[in-house]
Amino acid sequence: MYDCEATMVGNATPSGDQDHTVSLKVLVDKEKNKVVFAEAGKDFVDVLLSFLTLPLGTIARLVAQESNVQPLKVGSLSTLYESVSHLKENFLWIQRCKEMLLQPRNSMEDYCQKLKLNIDDTEPKSYYFCENLLQCIIKPYLVSTFRNQRCGCGKLMNRVVRSLDILSSENGFVKESASFLVSDDLHIMPNVFAASANLFLKPGIEDMETLEEQIVVDLLKFSLISRTPMTDLILRKTKYIGNFTLSQNLLEIGKISSGEGRQMVVKILIRKSNGKILFAEAEEGFVDFLFSFLTFPLGGVLHMLEGFSSVSCIDRLYSSMNELSSDRYFISQELKDKLASPLCASQFNLSNQILPIGVESFPCTYSYDGRSFSIVEPKSSTGESSSLLGFVKGPVMYMVTDELVVTPMSSIYAVSYLKTQKIPLSDLEERVIAIGVKEGLGILKASLTSTFALTDGLKQLIMPIQENNVSITSMLFEVINMILKMVHQVQFWPNCFWTLYGCITEIVVTFTSFVQNSLPCQRSQQNCYCNRS
Ligand SMILES: [Zn+2]
Repeated sequence: MYDCEATMVGNATPSGDQDHTVSLKVLVDKEKNKVVFAEAGKDFVDVLLSFLTLPLGTIARLVAQESNVQPLKVGSLSTLYESVSHLKENFLWIQRCKEMLLQPRNSMEDYCQKLKLNIDDTEPKSYYFCENLLQCIIKPYLVSTFRNQRCGCGKLMNRVVRSLDILSSENGFVKESASFLVSDDLHIMPNVFAASANLFLKPGIEDMETLEEQIVVDLLKFSLISRTPMTDLILRKTKYIGNFTLSQNLLEIGKISSGEGRQMVVKILIRKSNGKILFAEAEEGFVDFLFSFLTFPLGGVLHMLEGFSSVSCIDRLYSSMNELSSDRYFISQELKDKLASPLCASQFNLSNQILPIGVESFPCTYSYDGRSFSIVEPKSSTGESSSLLGFVKGPVMYMVTDELVVTPMSSIYAVSYLKTQKIPLSDLEERVIAIGVKEGLGILKASLTSTFALTDGLKQLIMPIQENNVSITSMLFEVINMILKMVHQVQFWPNCFWTLYGCITEIVVTFTSFVQNSLPCQRSQQNCYCNRS
């Protein structure tokens, strides 16, 4: 048995004369044409762990690009991302809101900047001052992390200062000398013989082949859709991704109660015959909530979903990261904690966010060169902070399809949408539902793997229509049985009053439960109001 060196080359722009390749030793089961594991050092494991720091918007953008593998759509996230890019400027508070959603910042960018293969092409954070700083009349001076914001004096803020924060000394996540084994499904283990012994003893493992250069974007794509990303990347060299299917486990969203905190009221239109949500009609708050998904780092999403995102390799990567000893393998315990629950970048969060995602803290004042500055709110054209600011403007009603295509509400568009779907009016049911933490997490989880994010995410809330029909039939059957039983008993014991009384009571109870069960809202969730007009 011998090992083989694989070289990975990223598509990041090399700066300086740093080497931008990562070597991997890979052990292959030739019989099954499968990667058993890769032996990797800091460089490769840091790249894998950096996936957890990427905001979902960045992931949607990166995987939509051409690489060795065809462009990929992630669940309903990709259509959500496209909706932002297609949304007209007048529906946003300010043009910058679109930029913030399409190029969300990575709150852990300092740790990723020195990675040999950093695939995040988002512009790193810089600080901008008034172009007329020396004569600026605004005191304290203003500073922004976005170029070309308007200073209070009317000039643009485009004077860039590379601060000490930017010239970070951070270098990845794991210790320089650490060595790891990475399984086909991205489980990271310490490189000790005990971990590999079982794998070595497996029959059918043979020598390995020489590998071609691959890029990390391919690996990110495979890790989102395949259970064997290392094999797909290194051996199969798959270019087309149409054949992958992910098993979905969409309903289990921890133990969080849906009644906690703020709730958003949304009207949904359901197709009765298949129980699918056709679209939701909602105010700007719900759209802000959906758009905010794009700013969530992948690891932060995993943290909220308690490690179960349904994207199996990412779940493995996340859980194995949590299992690694912080003393032995991570640069610090603090860094491991940050990676276990990465935050939204500062100023990218929604102030009225219902989901339990943290936000990177940012000082209200900033000092540079002995002067103090106050930070400008990027979502406001005046730079003043407001707790009410989201990304989209209100009051506007929006239409959100099951695949999270978001457009301003248009009745004509809605009617033509229903026509193109060939759905008769009799097959439609309108409901008003409340979206709280649990339902929000359901939609977020479903958006990672499903193109029916609303239906799958709100499954617990919407009644399965067909099941209801079955229960009505079985209830009727039970009632008929009761009557027959009563007639039978009365016939044989005409004087038995108590038997008759018992049977009537049973019929009443059966009818009561029949009526209750045929009301969808009472049967599903407390926060579902029926609109049975
Ligand atoms: Zn100024």
